[in-house]
Amino acid sequence: MKASFDDIFVTTDCPSQEQLLDYVQGKLNPEERHAIEHHLASCEMCSEALEGLQSIHQKEKISGWLQEMKGNMLHKLRKKNRQRRPVDFNIVQVLIILAVIFIVLSLFFSYYYYSRH
Ligand SMILES: [Zn+2]
Repeated sequence: MKASFDDIFVTTDCPSQEQLLDYVQGKLNPEERHAIEHHLASCEMCSEALEGLQSIHQKEKISGWLQEMKGNMLHKLRKKNRQRRPVDFNIVQVLIILAVIFIVLSLFFSYYYYSRH
């Protein structure tokens, strides 16, 4: 199956897979692009091969975008956390301090009250 596939590439005037890949990646000069486009219009096999290559190329691009988006999101989340954490910590700290002051004061006043009466 693979041998016959290679044979077709070799025996016909089809561009090589490398050329198709270069075409997908936009590495070819205008004449080469035109030649391949002209060939693709009349060759179903190559246009199918090209579709496959294009989807792979796009997948690579998309995975790159996803990676970038993920990175950006993580960066934003980290930034958010960095901004939020000190605020949360301060609120907790203040509440703990207030609670401790309240407990100490109430203990002190109840002790003072009971020792007097
Ligand atoms: Zn072809």
